[in-house]
Amino acid sequence: MKDSSKIAVIVYGPPGSGKGTQADLLAKKFNLIHFDTGQYLESIVHDPKNKNDVRIQKEKQFFDTGRLLTPSWVFEIISGKAKQIAKAGWGLVFSGSPRTFYEAFGKSKNSGLIKILEEEYGRSKIFFFLLKVHSNTSIKRNSERLICSNCGRQLLGFYSQFYQLKHKHIGCPFCAGVLRKRTLDNPETIKVRLKEYQKRTNPIFAGLKKHGYKLHQIDGELLPYKVFSQIIKKIRA
Ligand SMILES: [Zn+2]
Repeated sequence: MKDSSKIAVIVYGPPGSGKGTQADLLAKKFNLIHFDTGQYLESIVHDPKNKNDVRIQKEKQFFDTGRLLTPSWVFEIISGKAKQIAKAGWGLVFSGSPRTFYEAFGKSKNSGLIKILEEEYGRSKIFFFLLKVHSNTSIKRNSERLICSNCGRQLLGFYSQFYQLKHKHIGCPFCAGVLRKRTLDNPETIKVRLKEYQKRTNPIFAGLKKHGYKLHQIDGELLPYKVFSQIIKKIRA
């Protein structure tokens, strides 16, 4: 039986639009599981255990150069995770996933992730958001981003600048772990990621409309807490 209080939220936006941050905030507020597809895939392709796996090494090359990974492979992973989370009784928030039309709607009719979410949560409990930012904001935010190699938290924008300049040896403000840059956050790779987003993720938005879903567009240039309050308003409306 469907638990009517459970919701599924999908937050879209180009790299650096703040979708991961919003997904984290949503997870706390509504007791959802935030499944960060990018981070999960990164952990698979960069796992030393997989260094002799030809298929995964091919995906790793896509990943490190900013290209999207093979949709059928990604779909297998995210659909399994979505079902697991729903069956365990949790609401769910995805940041930036499903990333391609194939992952969202499948090859033929509606057989992708959206269909799975409909079965698990019901159409009226699924919310879609698009965070809009300029491409120069994308590039700036991504090239400044630092991530904690221990807890995975991200330091955004001027915080990361501040930390690099003044507190080089202090590390993550939460756990003091070593801060690192992600392989995919260098400016050239970000440009590839932006192109991939425009070419391969954008078509999903028309598909959503066709399937009768509203995509709520939010100004992602605002401070994260302001973006968040707009998102909450839409969910509660
Ligand atoms: Zn940390």
